[in-house]
Amino acid sequence: MVEAKNMCMRYSKCGDNALEDISFFIDRGEFVFFVGSSGAGKSTLLKLIIREIKPTEGELKVFGRDVGRLPRHRLPYLRRNIGMVFQDFRLIEDRTAFDNVAFAMMVTGATRREIRKRVPHVLGLVGLQDKAETRVCDLSGGELQRVGLARAIANRPAMIIADEPTGNLDPGTTFDIMNLLRSINLRGTTVLVATHNRDIVDRFKKRVLYLEGGKLVGDEQKGIYTHVH
Ligand code: ADP
Repeated sequence: MVEAKNMCMRYSKCGDNALEDISFFIDRGEFVFFVGSSGAGKSTLLKLIIREIKPTEGELKVFGRDVGRLPRHRLPYLRRNIGMVFQDFRLIEDRTAFDNVAFAMMVTGATRREIRKRVPHVLGLVGLQDKAETRVCDLSGGELQRVGLARAIANRPAMIIADEPTGNLDPGTTFDIMNLLRSINLRGTTVLVATHNRDIVDRFKKRVLYLEGGKLVGDEQKGIYTHVH
């Protein structure tokens, strides 16, 4: 599903490598944490997977395709199959929960009928069936991220990428959101989560890829937050 081979990423010609000689393979249906301190390269890796940027060297395959060589017209296919979840939610504040999810479907060309059926369903999956008509600015932090998750799964993506999804949430809400991500994963969606949150990594016992200064220094099944060299 995601395969990196000796991948390097340098933002400028004279700069240091943001990622250096990265190789890994993530299979369909996996749940993977990317951990590492600030500046380790987590966001860079996620940006490469969604082809916001291209690797400087090496190869990165997503859904079997080398994204560094992906023609522009294939980008919508790639992006439609990846649901994004952000630390700062990135919702449209003055619109309802329903609208926020509906917009994500509209841009992929879904019909009104599909939207009317699917949006209440996904809001139900994240426990927000009663908040469909509530404007996002009236929701709590945890509810905001539930809308974020509903939006991410609305188009039935093969993969969810979450960049610090619980970075703005309190500990209780953090676990609710992580449990939702786990249940989305159990339904077959591959889930990649970049995080600083030691508690959730230690508690969830999933695969952990450890980044340090742009290098992949560890890859553990059922890993814990602290990597032992
Ligand atoms: P993390 O997400 O783990 O905090 P990043 O991927 O944001 O790490 O950063 C990895 C390295 O790449 C850092 O040294 C950072 O300064 C550098 N970097 C990130 N984004 C850019 C950019 N747009 N231009 C130049 N350097 C960048």
